[in-house]
Amino acid sequence: MKIHEYQGKEIFRRYGIPVPEGKVAQSAKEAHDVADTLSGKMVVKAQIHAGGRGKGTLKDAPTVHGVKLVDSADAAFAHAKALLGHALCTHQTGPEGQVVRRVLVEAATEIAKEYYVGMTLDREHSRVAFIASTEGGMEIEKVAAETPDKILRLGVDPAGGFTAFHGRKLAYGLGLAGDTAKQAAKIMASLYQVFVETDASLVEINPLVVTKKGDVIALDAKVNFDDNALFRHPELAALRDVDEEDPRERAAKDAELSYVALDGNIGCLVNGAGLAMSTMDIIKYVGGEPANFLDVGGGATADQVTTAFTIILKDPKVRAILVNIFGGIAKCDVVATGVVQAAKNVGLKVPLVVRLEGTNVELGKKILAESKLAITPASDMLDAANKAVAAAGGAK
Ligand code: ADP
Ligand code: MG
Repeated sequence: MKIHEYQGKEIFRRYGIPVPEGKVAQSAKEAHDVADTLSGKMVVKAQIHAGGRGKGTLKDAPTVHGVKLVDSADAAFAHAKALLGHALCTHQTGPEGQVVRRVLVEAATEIAKEYYVGMTLDREHSRVAFIASTEGGMEIEKVAAETPDKILRLGVDPAGGFTAFHGRKLAYGLGLAGDTAKQAAKIMASLYQVFVETDASLVEINPLVVTKKGDVIALDAKVNFDDNALFRHPELAALRDVDEEDPRERAAKDAELSYVALDGNIGCLVNGAGLAMSTMDIIKYVGGEPANFLDVGGGATADQVTTAFTIILKDPKVRAILVNIFGGIAKCDVVATGVVQAAKNVGLKVPLVVRLEGTNVELGKKILAESKLAITPASDMLDAANKAVAAAGGAK
């Protein structure tokens, strides 16, 4: 689960990680009120669940950026007014952008240098890994691709936890010295605590800056939580902002389905993550593009299948649907019932290719046949993929 920068910064504050003074606002008037409590220059920052806001601009006003330095409460009001209610496009949002519903108004920091610090789970080595770089403010993927030597990686053994050694290694590795290095090391220790105690999957500060006075401050905050651990943190689960989620992904999540929207035109309904992956692979193999990843799970109910099918049908990009079910615990007749129910509810406007195999397959096929829906049966996965791609308009 993702949260906003202002929420991430509130968590940082609780853990003693320095962030600029400031507050979130939902209207231009509120932005003005927050700005009134600050002195000197300020920044107004669009709050959306996507990075690249600084360089990003409004969809309908390409000169208005998502992050702006202002020097008065009136200017903060004006920029908040320009952003709120409008779609901001960044390299992470796609061309439609994401509507700005909140802005963070905070004190401007006098930046001497920007750094990057991130933490994620290194699954290969089963430990939390720090990634740090002197190239702050840039996309870390770009730094990794172009100047990999500028990236410092450091894993923390979970048995020993974070020690003073890790803090020094990171701070000195970034070329910091003296009191600045001490402050940075302390921030790293707190970040580790944030990561572990909140069950985060990603914590990123880009940029972490050293100010002209030599102080270290987090100017951005990106915190993602592990969905599977959210039940342990109701206060963190409450930070969820459904407005920021893809409506189809949200409906899927609420029905406990694993769904990821993609760019292609073949909707996929599959049981089991492995089979769902190989279904996408085989669609690509025969020249098609999947519109989604969708795993209805091992023990799918007819209602879950109905929801899943409805989500796929609502995607305007979908030109054909491929149902690929290997009945094990999930029974073919249950899936068939769900498919028929959804197709009748929502209306089936695109070709449907179905490959059923396994438990209760004959019963499943009978339900589909009796439904009188225009279904193209497929004998195996390759056959199914070929038929779906042909139905969607042919291979690219
Ligand atoms: P994004 O990563 O979405 O572009 P950031 O929060 O990183 O958004 O802001 C973009 C840039 O704006 C930063 O790299 C920094 O240079 C500048 N910036 C952000 N917050 C402040 C601040 N409080 N004071 C001064 N500059 C800031
Ligand atoms: Mg940033």
